[in-house]
Amino acid sequence: MLEIKNLTKVYDDGTRALEDVSFSVKEGEFLVVIGLSGSGKSTLLRCINRLIEPTDGQIVWDGEDVTAAESTDLRKISRRIGMIFQHFNLVRRSSVFTNVLAGRLGYVNTWPTLIHRFPREDRDMAVRALERVGLTEQAHKRASELSGGQQQRVGIARALMQQPSIILADEPVASLDPVLAHTILGYLERLNREEGMTIICSLHYLDLVQRYATQVIGLRSGRLVYTGSREDIQNMTDEQFKEIYGEEAERVTGPLTGGQQKDGE
Ligand code: ADP
Repeated sequence: MLEIKNLTKVYDDGTRALEDVSFSVKEGEFLVVIGLSGSGKSTLLRCINRLIEPTDGQIVWDGEDVTAAESTDLRKISRRIGMIFQHFNLVRRSSVFTNVLAGRLGYVNTWPTLIHRFPREDRDMAVRALERVGLTEQAHKRASELSGGQQQRVGIARALMQQPSIILADEPVASLDPVLAHTILGYLERLNREEGMTIICSLHYLDLVQRYATQVIGLRSGRLVYTGSREDIQNMTDEQFKEIYGEEAERVTGPLTGGQQKDGE
């Protein structure tokens, strides 16, 4: 169980990005965070793994105070939280394999400049992670040679290297077309359903929210304005969605691929 209690973030310039936000996420949920651009979604996700320091409030994970954790404890906690990003955040000139191995960096003491300096187990693990996202054949290509959908799959493989219990996904499909969006979310859904990983993911499209979320929260100007269960979401109309999300929210239509990637994507 992850409990967010009265979380507030005020940036140095005085921007109040989160204001007294409280909610909890049970293990194994697929929580979707919705809200207009600038509503605080990204700040919220980054507070959970302390990439951003909250100003006030508490994050408690299985009884452990994440907000109070320092150095060694914090490293241990953040290792169990994988993250994937809208723009993939890969080292574009490095190989796919090296990018995936980089997910292990929380575990090795120094940055091994050559792949063969990573322990054998880590390299084996990277091979398996690439298999899981269907990219075995791309392992030795530069990341920049891959399509957007493939790059995001590298992002997922890199996160898997942390053997995470939670995956934070910050608008993971905002740069992708609808078919690829389903492919990527299909991978996250499989990790959620088959391996029990908790997913916390921000999304823009009502159809995607309805298709994948088991729980939804809505932010507006840093405040929590909506919490909904899977049933609530299924009954949500476009109008209600736009009330929370604003006019930029849309339906997305495209074939459901059930998480199968297409060759060449
Ligand atoms: P979202 O992910 O929903 O687009 P963000 O969490 O990125 O929202 O931003 C929430 C608010 O915080 C916005 O007003 C944004 O401009 C502001 N913000 C984000 N990062 C910073 C920062 N480093 N310094 C100051 N303000 C920031």
